[in-house]
Amino acid sequence: KAKQAGRNCYAVYDPRMQKSIEERMQVEKGLRIALEQNQFGIFYQPKVDASGRVVGAEGLVRWSHPEHGFISPSVFIPVAEETGLIHLIGEWIMEAIAGDLVRWQDMKIEPFGDIAINISAWQFGRADFIEKTLAGIRLNNIRVEQLSIEVTETAILGDMGTTRVKLNQLRNAGISVMLDDFGTGYSSLAYLKDLPLDGFKIDRTFVEGLGDAQAEPLVRSMLSIGKHMRLKVVAEGVESKEQFDKLKAMGCKLFQGYLFAKPMPVDEFLMWVKNNLEEHRYE
Ligand code: C2E
Ligand code: MG
Ligand code: MG
Ligand code: MG
Repeated sequence: KAKQAGRNCYAVYDPRMQKSIEERMQVEKGLRIALEQNQFGIFYQPKVDASGRVVGAEGLVRWSHPEHGFISPSVFIPVAEETGLIHLIGEWIMEAIAGDLVRWQDMKIEPFGDIAINISAWQFGRADFIEKTLAGIRLNNIRVEQLSIEVTETAILGDMGTTRVKLNQLRNAGISVMLDDFGTGYSSLAYLKDLPLDGFKIDRTFVEGLGDAQAEPLVRSMLSIGKHMRLKVVAEGVESKEQFDKLKAMGCKLFQGYLFAKPMPVDEFLMWVKNNLEEHRYE
């Protein structure tokens, strides 16, 4: 037993681990300051149809650190989740996106589709998540068609029954729910079978692999599943014309990726939308 404890002790003082704990504490401290000093922002990346016309967008959080510059959400979201700060940050994100939607209404921006918000495991798992989300929507007078939610498979790893109830509440309120990063989790198919979803997003890694003998039939199968289940399918991470053409030939109808546009600050995004709608006006 002592030996085991000794091993555990050693593990705790592993210098590599020490570094990552320190790093995490640094990030945590930084995140608290970021909330206080308003260092977060939302970028928008368009979703398009097969003709390239905008059909909506995804809001992606950005952290611009005064010293370290831009820090990727894939670095700080996990830390925010571990430390519980995700709730405060998630609320900030929700309010920021709601604020933009309200401003766009006031500016009489022509409607161009829904804005998707990413929801992480811990946010979704919280008992009051649905209530708070719906209250926020009502408070801001947002039309439910303007908003959708992207959940990752890890976000719904909890109890299936509870998850189903929550998803149904969202959908009954008119908010569509997409399963994000489809195909990368452990139970993608089980989720499709058991959960009320509007669709899924084929993970970028599969789109990257188009042309591989292994990835290509998987993408084809995912599109086929979507079709037979009458689900919306978005291909994410489309970077080349070749990938776009291949996906279209396979029956994919919704796309997102650098080929069309990178995530952009709100003003740039609105300009992009305006130009895009102009280009597609007579189609
Ligand atoms: P995600 O939801 O799957 O978002 C797609 C990610 O792929 C984004 O990275 C986007 O910038 C990037 N991307 C889009 N098109 C392309 C492409 O053509 N090529 C390549 N190489 N990348 C592309 P980002 O913004 O760094 O976000 C990473 C992840 O962090 C997101 O993955 C999402 O899981 C999480 N995240 C981002 N914003 C939020 C947020 O507001 N709340 C929560 N809870 N998570 C967020
Ligand atoms: Mg997403
Ligand atoms: Mg995704
Ligand atoms: Mg992804």
